[in-house]
Order: sequence, then C-alpha cells, then structure tokens
Amino acid sequence: MLQLEILGSNATAPTKEGAASSYLVRSRTGVVLVDAGPGSLLAYCARHDLAELRAIVVTHLHADHSLDLMAWAYRWTFPEVLPRIPLFFPEGERGRLEAFDAVFAIPTLPTMNSPITQSWDLHELPRDGTTVHEIDGLRLRSFAAHHSVPSAALRFTSPSGRVLAFSSDTGYCAPVVEAARDADVFVCEATYLEADEQALRGHGHLTARLAGGLAAEAGSEHLVMSHFSSPTMWDEGVRHAREAFDGRISVAVPGSVFD
Ligand SMILES: [Zn+2]
Repeated sequence: MLQLEILGSNATAPTKEGAASSYLVRSRTGVVLVDAGPGSLLAYCARHDLAELRAIVVTHLHADHSLDLMAWAYRWTFPEVLPRIPLFFPEGERGRLEAFDAVFAIPTLPTMNSPITQSWDLHELPRDGTTVHEIDGLRLRSFAAHHSVPSAALRFTSPSGRVLAFSSDTGYCAPVVEAARDADVFVCEATYLEADEQALRGHGHLTARLAGGLAAEAGSEHLVMSHFSSPTMWDEGVRHAREAFDGRISVAVPGSVFD
C-alpha cells in the first residue's frame, strides 16, 4: 500500500483552503509526514492519531515547509513524551535546526531543553540519489533539487515497487527528473504561471508549464501539482501543465487522497 494525502499545499502560508506544504505518505502500518508547513499539525490532528506517525521528512528549511516543526516538537514532548521517531532533513542543515531549537528551548522543563533534538532521531538526507533509507517498509532516496537552500527531492518506493515522488522546491534540473522517473505519482511544485530567470534558475522554482515538462521528461504517470502561489492559479496551472504533459493531472487540494 502506498497512499498520498494532502494536508496542505499552498506556497508561503496557510489559506482558507488549508495548510502550507505538508503531505502524508501512508504505508500498510503507519504514515510519514513530508514537510511541516504552517498549519500542518492542526490539519494532521483534525484527522489522524499521533501514534500512527512513523517519521518526519523535511524537504528544506524554508518556513512554508518547516515552521510547524517547533509546534510538532512541543507536542512531541508535552504533556507526555511520545516515542522517538526519525526526522530526516537535507545534509548540512543540522546547524540551522539547532539554532531554531535554541530560540524556543525551555530550560526549566527537562524534556524541552532542545525540543527538536530531544523529540526525534536526526538523520541527514545526502541528496545523492543512491543512499536508501528504510522507513516503515518504504524505501526513500533523496536527490539534489535546485533551490536557494539545500533542498531534497524525494522518491518513496513501496515493497511492491510503486513509486511516489516529491519535487520539493526546485528549478528544472536533472536530479529531480531522476527522482520522478516513471513515478506512479509525482507531486511537483508549480509556484508560478509566469516567472523570470532569476526566480526560476536563480532562486529555483518552476512554472506550471515547467512542472508539466518535468513530469513528461520523467515519464511520470500522474502529476499532482502543488505549491502554487495562490489557489486562484489552480485551473490555469493545470491548463499550462497540460501543454507539456499528457498523463493524469491533479491539483494537490488539501484533504485529497491519492492511492
Ligand atoms: Zn523553498
């Protein structure tokens, strides 16, 4: 079993449609949280039990993908201390996680001296496309997306060989094509409808047309478009992606589930 649930998909901040970037990958025995954008903890707790969570994977340390990590860490250590699970994040970002921890540490509560590092076992994602992490029966590989901070595209493979891939935030680049190669479902960012070279190749984002082109080059079956700057872009974004990609296209509407 390999199932994708959208907790939130908006770029930058929550909207009335739902949380910022956060997704659940469900296997036979539990769920993996991919990204902890603002609103993710509330969206999760409205529908699911914390005991189901097997791991957290943060694609990169921009606030719209990771700000709620501190809320999750507070909940993980109070009122009871929940079982330790792994937290995966891009290689080289441990220092910034520790700095985040230092800001919100509570020295007078022993379990919250450093909420993130006390809550979870920290694992760096090498972004090399080859190293395999086993999570709850799923195999995870990470790839070097092109973005303004270290950003990890993800490729989950189920025991039966089904593939669910995530672009993370990225410009168009070969490693993300490899992450999405022949994926059954590819969650791809589509931040803009139109953008200049600085936004696309400098900072590192995709337009909806580029997302469609990337899914086509990768041979993905089903493109799930995410990380739009605004929900008002959904319909036109799908039309733009359709110019380049003739497979199934969906929008990552919060609350939706894809098998
Ligand atoms: Zn970003």
